[in-house]
Amino acid sequence: MNPMDIPTLHKALAKQAGDQFPRQKRSPIEQAIFTVLAEGDSSRRALAFMHQAMKVFVDWNELRVSLTQEVQALMEAQGIGDARARAVRLKKLLTAIIDEYNVLSLDHLLALKPGETKRAFTKLEKLAGPLVVESVAQYALEHPAFAPLDNVARVLRRLEVAGERVTDHQLGVFLSKHFDSREAINAFCELVADHGDRVCHAAEPECASCEFQSRCPGAKKIREERERRKEKEKEAAARKAAAKVGAKKKG
Ligand code: SF4
Repeated sequence: MNPMDIPTLHKALAKQAGDQFPRQKRSPIEQAIFTVLAEGDSSRRALAFMHQAMKVFVDWNELRVSLTQEVQALMEAQGIGDARARAVRLKKLLTAIIDEYNVLSLDHLLALKPGETKRAFTKLEKLAGPLVVESVAQYALEHPAFAPLDNVARVLRRLEVAGERVTDHQLGVFLSKHFDSREAINAFCELVADHGDRVCHAAEPECASCEFQSRCPGAKKIREERERRKEKEKEAAARKAAAKVGAKKKG
């Protein structure tokens, strides 16, 4: 099976997304908010919430000081999972940022060159966690050294576009050879992430409804793994039934 090449994959993903999922350049704080919302959920739902939030609240500060239940209800209306915990986390993050920088903004990061960000990133990581830092660096600051985020790497590994066992770094280098700017890589990565959110989930990918199934080496492995799992479950059920019969006979 020949893995898909990048231009073919890119074209197919762009067609899938249509104009429902345009690439939007976000400010660093918007990217941090987006990451909190999309982590373990869906980019589309995260974007829908952000869009809705800016209709309901005057700005992110008004959301920060509003009731958790209000934010939670808005998240639930967009189908975002773990809404209560996520609303608490989002409000806490915004408060931590304003406490630390005296302003609800991370725009100071834009002035830093890739080599100058270590201290600022260490501070932000304490407030927001490593994923937010990676995401802000990659998508909002467009720093060149960052590898694709987990959900992107997962889909590209399953499709084996750059081989099955490539490291995140190698995948990042591979992508940089196929696109002429960081922005173009990011736009592609967001389409891949969207596919990961909708179809190619981490735990249970929906290969049967994926248009790449016939060209995806990962799909075959996932199918085989599922068959092995089923076989083991059958064996375990048979052992359990046999043990029950044995116990009855003894009794
Ligand atoms: S076929 Fe399955 S593993 Fe491959 S990209 Fe689609 S959902 Fe992911």
